Amino acid sequence: MVKLNQGITFKEQNLFREKRQLLVKSLRNKGITDEELLAVMEELPRELFVDPPFINRAYDDTALPIKCMQTISQPYTVAYMTELLCVKPSHKVLEIGTGSGYQAAILYLLGAKVYTIERIPELLNNAKDIFEQMGFKINCFLGDGSIGLSKFAPFDSIIVTAAAPSIPNRLIEQLKIGGRLVIPIGSKSYQTMNLIIKHTDNNYQLIEKDTFKFVPLIGDNGWNAEN
Ligand code: SAH
Repeated sequence: MVKLNQGITFKEQNLFREKRQLLVKSLRNKGITDEELLAVMEELPRELFVDPPFINRAYDDTALPIKCMQTISQPYTVAYMTELLCVKPSHKVLEIGTGSGYQAAILYLLGAKVYTIERIPELLNNAKDIFEQMGFKINCFLGDGSIGLSKFAPFDSIIVTAAAPSIPNRLIEQLKIGGRLVIPIGSKSYQTMNLIIKHTDNNYQLIEKDTFKFVPLIGDNGWNAEN
């Protein structure tokens, strides 16, 4: 049997395609309505981004462990946050917490100019390899994303895919006027998804959405690594 990228066979590829269609159907049932986003999620092979022992669960609508005790977010969570961002082609989008790279790839396929930052080198390098293999031009950075990426600001939107204790002002500063920040805020055990829309330089609107569970954002505007 011919092996495709990451040792996935043709037969497995067809099976994954069917599973992807079922996943998208279930995302619709859960309330995701953005057709372009659903089309992208139906295209992008999530199996490339999960750890090999979990490949058969790539299309379960659950978060899965990746290396370094981190997780690839649940597909529903990815869809939910992406809808809140209202990405338009050519938007400049900053993702904080590259992890597996799956969320960044979704943003890229929606036509965004993606900047993604990760604090763990091994995860960033792994994601970079996948982007290269797929031909995705995604700007990858190693560092503490809790302070944003001021060198490339302002952004049309910023998505934080790790749990923050409070809203980092520095991220709001790095948004364009009209820009959107989507960030889970709360304790380490659970968080409320917050959507912040920047109306003017000193006036923003905060909308609290549903509850989720993320790994912690570690850094200057996040949690300490030790506790
Ligand atoms: N978006 C990811 C989800 C990754 S989980 C995906 O699609 O798979 C959250 C990631 O945030 C982890 O990889 C973690 O290492 C990273 N992270 C935590 N604090 C960070 C910080 N201050 N800056 C950058 N990345 C951070």
